[in-house]
Amino acid sequence: MRFPLHVTTSTIRHQIRNGLKGNRRYPFVLMLEPLYTCNLACIGCALERHTGKLSDRLPVEDCLEAADISGAPIVSICGGEPTIYPELADLVDGLIDRKRHIYLCTNALLLDEKVYGVIPPNKRLMINVHLDGMRETHDFVCARNGVFDKAVAMIKRGVALGHHMMANTTIYRETNIDEVEELCRLLTGLGVEGMLVSPGYHYESVERDIFLTRDEIQKKFRRVLEISRKYRLTSTPMFLEFAAGMREYNCSPWSTVTFTPRGWKGPCYLIGKTYTETFEDFWNGTDWDYWESRQDALCRNCAMHSGFEASVVRELPKHPGDMFRMAAWNLLG
Ligand code: SF4
Repeated sequence: MRFPLHVTTSTIRHQIRNGLKGNRRYPFVLMLEPLYTCNLACIGCALERHTGKLSDRLPVEDCLEAADISGAPIVSICGGEPTIYPELADLVDGLIDRKRHIYLCTNALLLDEKVYGVIPPNKRLMINVHLDGMRETHDFVCARNGVFDKAVAMIKRGVALGHHMMANTTIYRETNIDEVEELCRLLTGLGVEGMLVSPGYHYESVERDIFLTRDEIQKKFRRVLEISRKYRLTSTPMFLEFAAGMREYNCSPWSTVTFTPRGWKGPCYLIGKTYTETFEDFWNGTDWDYWESRQDALCRNCAMHSGFEASVVRELPKHPGDMFRMAAWNLLG
């Protein structure tokens, strides 16, 4: 199976539960950003995500309360760099107690000090290592030499220790898709269980012109679609077809909600128009019809999985053929 059975069953249960309550919109994923501090300053990263002070981090209790309030079965711990968060082990424990599935999104530099030997492998914990290319490219994107070699060493060690290791890659204007294929080959050989490939989003705080236009995304993703037939990508085939310009979806920004040291970020993981203290203010104060429609200029070039994978799921009942494809993709992947 492409996703572990317990992840698939709990997301299906979550859908059924919300369907029975008549909820049209509900979170699937909580993007939990407990700190805006990082040990890198990658060129495509939003400025605010790596320039914050550690002392401004979220308390563990607030993080766990956010998981409870959002109800999302999946929690992606990102930031900032979550391995710098001093209370990471307590946070992971608390989320596992709440039966959440955790993606720990990391640059891997501190995994040997802060995770391995500290946080035991658990079927609910997936370590998701950021790798944007092979050595030269990744070190360039991370603005530091040696990051690629360390990340690869940490993936090998994580696999050997029995952790569920994954990887995620962002595609920029300069990304050579043949190199992405080479990376997929390498990661598959290392025993990584899944790879997420997504187009970079042009944050307002990033001045460099490295981001793709919609046309460029479609061209690059037509090649990613071919790669997905050979390697274990975790993006659904329908999402990849959308990114490749072969089908259209409205956005589902409510499916991925984001809690940060500044509060609940709205309307989506990418755009911080508002930061509110309470989930209710965020949820009830966001004009979901407007953001679903993608009419805002900030949505023009967006094809992020955080907005559109839930749209794929939402549309499945209307297309029985897609339903069968999706089931086969997960079961046989
Ligand atoms: S299209 Fe992209 S930027 Fe716009 S609301 Fe959806 S996820 Fe956010």
